[in-house]
Amino acid sequence: MKPPAFEYLAPRSLEQAVAALADGEAKVIAGGQSLVPMLNFRLLAPSLLVDINRIPGLDFIEADDDGGLRIGALTRHYTLETSILVQERFPVLRAAMAHVAHLAIRNRGTIGGSLCHGDPAAELPGLALLLDAQLKTTQRTVAAVDFFESALSTVLADDEILTEIQLPAPTPRTGWGFEEFARRSGDFALAAVGATVSLSGDAVAEARIVVIGAHDTPLRVSAAEALLTDRASIAAAAAAARDAVSPNDDLHASADYRRHLVGVLTRRALTAAWQRAAAPS
Ligand SMILES: Cc1cc2nc3c(=O)[nH]c(=O)nc-3n(C[C@H](O)[C@H](O)[C@H](O)COP(=O)(O)OP(=O)(O)OC[C@H]3O[C@@H](n4cnc5c(N)ncnc54)[C@H](O)[C@@H]3O)c2cc1C
Repeated sequence: MKPPAFEYLAPRSLEQAVAALADGEAKVIAGGQSLVPMLNFRLLAPSLLVDINRIPGLDFIEADDDGGLRIGALTRHYTLETSILVQERFPVLRAAMAHVAHLAIRNRGTIGGSLCHGDPAAELPGLALLLDAQLKTTQRTVAAVDFFESALSTVLADDEILTEIQLPAPTPRTGWGFEEFARRSGDFALAAVGATVSLSGDAVAEARIVVIGAHDTPLRVSAAEALLTDRASIAAAAAAARDAVSPNDDLHASADYRRHLVGVLTRRALTAAWQRAAAPS
């Protein structure tokens, strides 16, 4: 199908873009990789598309002195995937990017677009939660944990634009794991799990486990994190993650199968995270 008719505006500043969004019938377009299919399926019919690609200062990856990163909302998936800074500071993000769609889509799709689209099976919303991202908009800064409301819904107001993603520095001796299962390479995940484990001596200082594709938002499974006390407890934590999710049956997989996947992927992600955390630096 063809999209419904719309007006098009490509402002050169955030102020102009925000002003254009004020009537509530307008939508931001970034990479267009989620929005254009929704227009073509006529799931949306905005009167105006506000193209933010010509606004300077939204496409960057910058290192913080303390080990964190700041990423502009217009940064393409491919740029994240190939960034040395991302690889050095947040290799889990680099690993997850390899699962996002196909190269042509990664060339256009943006980190901001993926977060604002809020697909529960998408990798970047889950990674934002896993890495405790702060999301800076034209109005405020929101923690990733407070950003996603339900499937394809976020706390963003109609005239609010995401501008920057801030990733705080990981603590020393933090290991990571990312595991995903999709039916074909490039498909959305049937389920995926990202995990980080931070060790202090032999004790777990912090564990974070985020499940993707098995809930209507990315889901941090605190009950499973609390069970991770030593390496031998990985199996119990994985079982708790499996029991914590209540996915729906759909065309692609039954709820039981997705739950099973969450258990298996959590065990693998935690094992990898533990090995990396415990490895001599
Ligand atoms: C065939 C196919 C397969 C795909 N597979 C995957 C996959 O496996 N994993 C995955 O994660 N994604 C996948 N995607 C989605 C892809 O990653 C999109 O690029 C991404 O979800 C949206 O980014 P975008 O820049 O294209 O956003 P757009 O499509 O331009 O916008 C998406 C939404 O976000 C809003 N928006 C965009 N930027 C901003 C901003 N800065 N501030 C406020 N609102 C904003 C738009 O108004 C719109 O509602 C797939 C897409 C396709 C077409």
